[in-house]
Amino acid sequence: MRCEQREAVKRFRMLPAELSPVISRRFAMHKPLSGLWFLPLARWLPLIVLCAWSGGAEAGDCAVGPLHAAAANAASLTAMPLNVFGRPETGWAFYEPLIAKEIDTDCAADTAGFGRALARWQSAHGQPASGILNIATLQRLKQIWQEQRPFVLESRHHCPDAPAEQSLQRALPSESYGGKAILLSADALAGYRAMVVAARQEGFIPPRSQLYSIFSAYRSPTYDAARCEAQHNCQGVVRASCSPHRTGYAMDIYLGAAPGFSPDSSADANRLYISRSAGYRWLVRNAARFGLVNYAFEPWHWEFVGRGASR
Ligand SMILES: [Zn+2]
Repeated sequence: MRCEQREAVKRFRMLPAELSPVISRRFAMHKPLSGLWFLPLARWLPLIVLCAWSGGAEAGDCAVGPLHAAAANAASLTAMPLNVFGRPETGWAFYEPLIAKEIDTDCAADTAGFGRALARWQSAHGQPASGILNIATLQRLKQIWQEQRPFVLESRHHCPDAPAEQSLQRALPSESYGGKAILLSADALAGYRAMVVAARQEGFIPPRSQLYSIFSAYRSPTYDAARCEAQHNCQGVVRASCSPHRTGYAMDIYLGAAPGFSPDSSADANRLYISRSAGYRWLVRNAARFGLVNYAFEPWHWEFVGRGASR
């Protein structure tokens, strides 16, 4: 939402409280309202019109918007066949937090408010403004998510060089999941630490929790190549011969796991479980402030892209 719209919404919400003395005085005096009782409303009219036009109830009224889009999105959320990351999936519920962030709404995917926000986003991105999540919209979202990652842009031309391991910094044992040795570039580690401090201050990390600890960071090209070879899987959606983990800027952050799965299991059930967690949703909303962006297919995989380089 644009800032002038936010201001308009804020003032719009003040409207009843500000007007209540005017109205209550009338009733207290037991006087009938004159034919001009609405005049005090007139100065608010431009704001009311602006709010109605811009979908000003963004955060507050998720029932306002295209109902047919809400119905279509509710139906496709767990049923639409898709394949945007090179592997078939059913439904787009997993991507809901990232989509909501991108289209700037707090409304759930099956609401009219979500459809309204999506329609606005589609219009701004040259797509038919239906408010209905379809494959074309999902592909465009994927493009935006991927292009936030310098690694993706660079690796289209060549696989980025790995840094000298001596130049990397070691995370503290308390920052490591299961006590693994975690190496990161100094600025990536600083960005991660600032983010964890903020999460802790906001009460998002329970005492003695391993939430947001790191279970994988820098991996040497030699190590990754050996692992690919052993697993006979080097060009899949989850394992690539040129991995962002070679850069020292990528980290896998522990966000829990569905019962019976490992924290980095790419099984759809595990990915959906993590995407619905409060820990992941906090990262989606806040990590960019600390220079971290998500690889949209893997909720645990985050890359430091530099503060100010992302939204
Ligand atoms: Zn990773």
